[in-house]
Amino acid sequence: MADPDSPLVRQRYTVGGIVQGVGFRPHVHQLAAELDLAGYVANTAEGVVIEIEGPPDRVASFAAAVVDRAPPLAVVDSFAGQGMAPLGRAGFEIRPSVGGPAATLVSPDVATCADCLDELGDPTDRRHGYAFTNCTNCGPRYTIVTTIPYDRPNTTMASFLMCDACRAEYEDPFDRRYHAQPVCCPACGPQLDTPIEKVAAAVLAGEVVAVKGLGGYHLAVLASSEPAVTRLRARKHREDKPFAVMAADLAAAARICVIDAMAQELLRSPARPIVLLPRRPGAPVASAIAPGSRELGVMLPYTPLHHLLLAAVGEPIVLTSGNRSDEPIAYRDDDARTRLTPIADRFLTHDRPIRIRVDDSVVRAVDGAPYVLRRSRGYAPAPITVGSPTPVPVLACGAELKSTIALARGRQVFVSHHIGDLKNYEAYGSFCETIEHIGRLFEITPAIVAHDMHPDYLSTSYALELSEDRGIEAVAVQHHHGHIASCLADNGVAGPVIGVAFDGTGYGTDGTVWGGEFLVADLTDFERVGWLAPVPLPGGDAAADEPWRMAASYLDVIGEAGASPITVPHWDDVVAMVRAGVSSPLTSSVGRLFDAVAALVGVRSTVNYEGQAAIELEAVVAPDEAGTYPMAVAGSTLVGADLVAAVLADVRAGVAAPVIAARFHHGLAAGVAVMCRRVRDATGLACVALSGGVFANVVLLREVTGLLEADEFTVLRHRQVPCNDGGICLGQAVVAAARARRSG
Ligand code: ZN
Ligand code: ZN
Ligand code: FE
Repeated sequence: MADPDSPLVRQRYTVGGIVQGVGFRPHVHQLAAELDLAGYVANTAEGVVIEIEGPPDRVASFAAAVVDRAPPLAVVDSFAGQGMAPLGRAGFEIRPSVGGPAATLVSPDVATCADCLDELGDPTDRRHGYAFTNCTNCGPRYTIVTTIPYDRPNTTMASFLMCDACRAEYEDPFDRRYHAQPVCCPACGPQLDTPIEKVAAAVLAGEVVAVKGLGGYHLAVLASSEPAVTRLRARKHREDKPFAVMAADLAAAARICVIDAMAQELLRSPARPIVLLPRRPGAPVASAIAPGSRELGVMLPYTPLHHLLLAAVGEPIVLTSGNRSDEPIAYRDDDARTRLTPIADRFLTHDRPIRIRVDDSVVRAVDGAPYVLRRSRGYAPAPITVGSPTPVPVLACGAELKSTIALARGRQVFVSHHIGDLKNYEAYGSFCETIEHIGRLFEITPAIVAHDMHPDYLSTSYALELSEDRGIEAVAVQHHHGHIASCLADNGVAGPVIGVAFDGTGYGTDGTVWGGEFLVADLTDFERVGWLAPVPLPGGDAAADEPWRMAASYLDVIGEAGASPITVPHWDDVVAMVRAGVSSPLTSSVGRLFDAVAALVGVRSTVNYEGQAAIELEAVVAPDEAGTYPMAVAGSTLVGADLVAAVLADVRAGVAAPVIAARFHHGLAAGVAVMCRRVRDATGLACVALSGGVFANVVLLREVTGLLEADEFTVLRHRQVPCNDGGICLGQAVVAAARARRSG
């Protein structure tokens, strides 16, 4: 406490969170100057430390404003003050950083800010039309960092020597570019290899252009050109999977999609994800962009290069990952040339290297909240903060499809960008490299490695080898427990809860293929209390590529295999296979139930990408159809065959696919609610966590939520990480941590 007679007080504040590398120190300096206060600010291992001295009222104003007016990229999660004896000295300084570099969190990449955008468009500005304009509030971060500490020499900007004008900005605490590591200008920074106007003309002429972006190469074509989009599909060997569209601004996006308040916020957020939006009827975009979908994935420009390109083209473009079919996106220049030359008519590239491949993120607005389907550029590597700290650092290796990895220390879980399908050789290399890279950036050496129970996942073998090589503990986490734990961690809840984990496939503790699971789970353990009644999975994994096989399996269960409404070659062979029990393990997968129904109603009998049948079945749902199908709960099982029998009857009666799809969704949702009620009656638990890739289906998600909430359940949905396997590493990390806490 200061002496009441003294005219001065001195306070020491410690500010925690994402407060370094985001312009926090200059902000403090400016505020101190504004209020004419003395003291200093420094980065330390604990966060930003401020000592501030002056008259009590002005020190109080400072304390109020320092968090309130924090720079846009700062995330303050703690602010603590402590009285000190005044020193009576004048002046304020920014002191050099002290302590370990681990305190500095490498930030995600940030979309171009309004100030930089103004400069970009200002003919009198020295950065007018410059494709690499950035500042402390925006620009590349994660994609250019090679190692820590986050300083210019440790980025891919190291080889660009700042000119005098840029250096003056970089060194001036009152400048927007103070300590902005990637700062540059046309005189000293990276350069494009082709003028934007020339590239824009090529796009307008219908060419496919490979464009080097922030986290990799994209392929760009004119969104309104059916032939151009079709050509891109053919060359990329991507039959149906939707392409993303980039529009110049909100107004341009609103001409092709319906945008509500939440979607608008997401589109304009610094992460600039692809946002899935309802397509406007008659929107001037090629139908080949998203066949079989009522939606479009739209994003706004997030680098100056994109802003310039979109302005020059003057209408929306398709901007899809630069790869062939399922390969990872190309990001090294030589590799991009090799792989994309057969696809692209020309290239727009530049000389700033990309350190790490990072795909665009994909988000949806559901009931006024973000629902992340792919958490990558703009979000990674920001940590997810969880409720309880891990006693030792944990590496979680994730699953196999939509692979991500996580490294955890304390209450922070660093979930990686999207890596891809590990069955792809290059993606597996990327997986290994990402583990090393994130470990290095955040100085985390795992003492525990968590992994899926599936013995054949490459992520599992990696974990077991690492465990052996380094003599660290390996913790196996059942796939669906991983999903539910992920949802708990995502919501800061410890459980126990009723977990509903619906997906395509996951290795069960009994060796069968799970995917329609009701678990009573907390972070440590789970008990399987209910499941979708198992049916044969003809051909094992191959069934996922051919939904009609599941139709054959389900029709055989209800004794109707001989009277199929759909004609497929090899139908009889598959039925025979199921009956003989050859290559037909049992599965409780809800994803496969969707497959059966999609095939029976004629929506899709073979797929070109994972989950396509279910996605297209959801897409045709008649929004106003209120009818439903009964679904029995028999003991611990939910009888999927009931729904299939009802579907079959309606197909035979000539009921339209959209109506059948709606009734199927309603019936399944009601079945889930009945099962949850039974579990509540038996356990007293009234909180339900919804996870697994099937809950990317918003019709089902909203309907299940509605039924449960009407019945006074609390419903937990994912918020920060995907419900699909891209979120599973978070669950594995918190399960391993919880078990370590228990045994520690
Ligand atoms: Zn900026
Ligand atoms: Zn310069
Ligand atoms: Fe899964």
